[in-house]
Amino acid sequence: MKTDFLVIGSGAAGLSFALKAAAHGHVTIVTKGAIEECNTNYAQGGICSVTYAPDTFEKHIRDTLVCGAGKCDEKAVELVVRRAPELIADLIAWGTRFDKTPDGRFELNREGGHSEHRILHHEDLTGAEIERALVQSVREHPNITVLERHFAIDLLTQHHLGEFVTRHTRGLASFGAYVLNLDTNEIETMLSKFTVVATGGCGNVYSTTSNPVVATGDGIAMCHRAKAMTENMEFIQFHPTTLYNPGEKPNFLITEAMRGFGAILRLPDGKEFMDKYHPMKSLAPRDVVARAIYREMTKRGSDFVYLDVTHKDPEAVKSHFPNIYEKCRSIGIDITKDWIPVTPAAHYCCGGVKVDTNGETSVKRLYALGETSCTGLHGANRLASNSLIEAVVYADQAARHTASLLEKVDFQEGIPDWDFEGTQHTEEMLMIIQSKREMQTIMSNYVGIVRSNLSLKRAMHRLEILWQETEELYNKTKPNRELCELRNMIAIAYLVIKQGREIKESVGCHYNADYPKEG
Ligand code: FAD
Repeated sequence: MKTDFLVIGSGAAGLSFALKAAAHGHVTIVTKGAIEECNTNYAQGGICSVTYAPDTFEKHIRDTLVCGAGKCDEKAVELVVRRAPELIADLIAWGTRFDKTPDGRFELNREGGHSEHRILHHEDLTGAEIERALVQSVREHPNITVLERHFAIDLLTQHHLGEFVTRHTRGLASFGAYVLNLDTNEIETMLSKFTVVATGGCGNVYSTTSNPVVATGDGIAMCHRAKAMTENMEFIQFHPTTLYNPGEKPNFLITEAMRGFGAILRLPDGKEFMDKYHPMKSLAPRDVVARAIYREMTKRGSDFVYLDVTHKDPEAVKSHFPNIYEKCRSIGIDITKDWIPVTPAAHYCCGGVKVDTNGETSVKRLYALGETSCTGLHGANRLASNSLIEAVVYADQAARHTASLLEKVDFQEGIPDWDFEGTQHTEEMLMIIQSKREMQTIMSNYVGIVRSNLSLKRAMHRLEILWQETEELYNKTKPNRELCELRNMIAIAYLVIKQGREIKESVGCHYNADYPKEG
């Protein structure tokens, strides 16, 4: 199969790129589940953009840089912040509805780390609303083909022409991908002029995560295997407040907007504790809040702390957070009267595949967008609600760039089809599930909110065994989704640990107890 633009992933990044690129050529979107199964669909709090005074671009830039703890790329920050209003207008043009006040202005929320109210939202279901509008526009577009239940396995480069390639090979380029059709179990060779990896994050590398099951870091792992550069993988952001409801997966998120609305973190005896950790108390940046909760939990051997919104007007609570209200009610918690038990969970990958301001990776004609990418916007810690806007801004940058090159690019000849020789269907499904649990336990125990040199070393040793066993199985097996995901998650775990061992300081989301710092 041949297509001008092959887009892997159907979240905000992939779909908004597709809508822009489709004006110039044919787009094929492959996605491993149903189209709306993605992190985007779960985003609650909203999307950042400077909208009204007294907010300014400079303030949004400063908040992003402060949160990123000195590791942001200022070019990326400027780009996203200054282009945000245009892209919000595009989302509205595609049918996204953001909440408004009675006088017709956008209702803006404030979240941790923000100095102003600047978060546009749709109730507490912003991601689902954005995804709904994008899916509808994509479905109606004559130049876009959507292939659901299609799992991208690997990216095509000169390696598939028999050449020896490294991260430093000059002219290394991408020609498309091998894609497993999950209904027929056939592997299709999809050739493209441009390949866009928009496969989201990797929260499932940990035992507890706010991410849906599709977030297994496939795109980052594929790009890594294709010899694209990755960076900042050690900066895994843990969301401080997910609902403590043992057995439920993924962990249900209690949006940061609730703390912006006035909710207070409390210990089981009712005491506030954030004043010990940061002047912004419950509205401190996420890494600080997550670590504070982790410390208080470990001190007491408890699995959660509480979030209290009972002092606020019950009707306002219900109208601002209808989804959270209903969810908690379904497990017997009335948030207008009861405190909410909350616990941190793996939430967002601040690093990823290194890209330039066009979203292009170190491999030519290979683009990484959204959570898969590392643009430099987030540095060591993402400012709340900066990720959806990053996804759509960079999708637009990439669409412009690829459109400008389209005429000059042709399809690559000579790529062989997938070689099944010597492989068979696996009967080791139980082993795959066990290995996945082991990997998640290693990451949660040794590479969590607080790490140390010893814990990282241990994690790497244990991971090595899993890696060897999994590669052995993979080499004799006809690819299936579970095995490919396991292999990808092991690659992600490796990158998080390896890059975490290279950095000799505690900064942002990476806290190494051997290099202690305040907060
Ligand atoms: P996703 O939306 O995750 O899309 C990835 C797509 O790739 C999916 O369709 C998936 O099925 C597909 N895919 C993955 N692997 C493969 C493969 N091998 N082959 C084919 N397809 C594949 N951000 C904010 O800015 N504001 C918020 O309020 C906010 N709240 C959040 C709340 C929750 C609970 C979560 C989990 C995240 C939240 N985030 C928020 C983060 C934000 O939602 C994500 O970073 C963003 O949506 C990522 O978009 P994306 O398009 O990059 O990836």
